[in-house]
Amino acid sequence: MKFSEIIGQEKVKAEIIKEINSGKIAHAKLFLGKSGYGTLPLALAFVQYLFCEQKTDNDSCGVCPSCKRVREFTHPDVHYVYPIVKSVHGTSMGAIEVWRKKLSENPYFNLLEWGELHEIKNNKLIIPTEESVEIIKKLNFKSYEGGAKVMIIWMPEEMHNSCSNKLLKILEEPPQNTYFLLVAENQDRMLNTILSRTQKVEVPRIELADLSNFMQKKSNLNREEADFISSFSEGDYLMALSYIEESEAKDFYREQFIQMMRSSYKKDVLGMLDWADKFSSQPRERQKFFFIYSLHMFRQSIMMNYIGEELTHVTKEEEHFLKNFSPFISGNNIREFQETFNDGYYHIERNANSKILFTQLCFQTMRYIHAA
Ligand SMILES: [Zn+2]
Repeated sequence: MKFSEIIGQEKVKAEIIKEINSGKIAHAKLFLGKSGYGTLPLALAFVQYLFCEQKTDNDSCGVCPSCKRVREFTHPDVHYVYPIVKSVHGTSMGAIEVWRKKLSENPYFNLLEWGELHEIKNNKLIIPTEESVEIIKKLNFKSYEGGAKVMIIWMPEEMHNSCSNKLLKILEEPPQNTYFLLVAENQDRMLNTILSRTQKVEVPRIELADLSNFMQKKSNLNREEADFISSFSEGDYLMALSYIEESEAKDFYREQFIQMMRSSYKKDVLGMLDWADKFSSQPRERQKFFFIYSLHMFRQSIMMNYIGEELTHVTKEEEHFLKNFSPFISGNNIREFQETFNDGYYHIERNANSKILFTQLCFQTMRYIHAA
């Protein structure tokens, strides 16, 4: 991947390029941010630039033999580690073909999308202890090309603690010319001992103008739509994509939202349980989007209450509902709503039990809504 193929992130790109050109590259870096901000594409562009035989001052050439191999994910000195289903794949190598295919289709994806490619059932995606043996083995070999070696570890949050512990030494003192690139969403779920051995690169949300420009070209949207989607998705490309996919289903989310809010408001416990039961049988992608949609409705309620401005980002039907609903969202409960619904999104992405989650969500909503 070339830097020019990444959406926005000019500041991060410039820093990376400067670091590579200085020749003083940190031996372990952590790209930290949401998947939809482009953390993995940045790591891929980093590697391609590092190996390119004809790089310019600001990008790889994309056509030299090294670029070609990095681009096809077959470079012998670039290794990948990612969460897998242990009983099916053993280690990352067991899923390498799926990984390559996914990366070449679109390197913007998250753990949920990656999980959908595998038969997970009751298993969970993990980077197992066995992976540490593979990593150490691969890095102790001489590099095939006589140059640098890179180990990309995607979603190290899912690493088994014993795997992390086994990596500490090699992370601290990697073999010469060896680089670790960790790509993570949430540092709170990583061991401090790992974090302290990496140089952190905070990847912020994509600048809204950059995302909007990209969406206009890529998804053939007009300026107004693209601006709206970029701000709705808060600079997260994956969220913008799912918004486009789901925008036809907006009526569905509005109905679900109304139903849930009404039964919670009325303290109608049977109605709440019934809703949670039915909604938890929806596909996960929909469950996830429900949280995004709800957060959008909370924000719009606050706008209506406090700023009093004309709402431009809602449909007529939504506006109608919000007129009655918005007084129940205030400074007394907006923080709780936002935290709870953000957490819900996070847990759904990680395969939480959705029936329990949505049931709890109804009861929390009932409490908050009466605290307005
Ligand atoms: Zn090149």
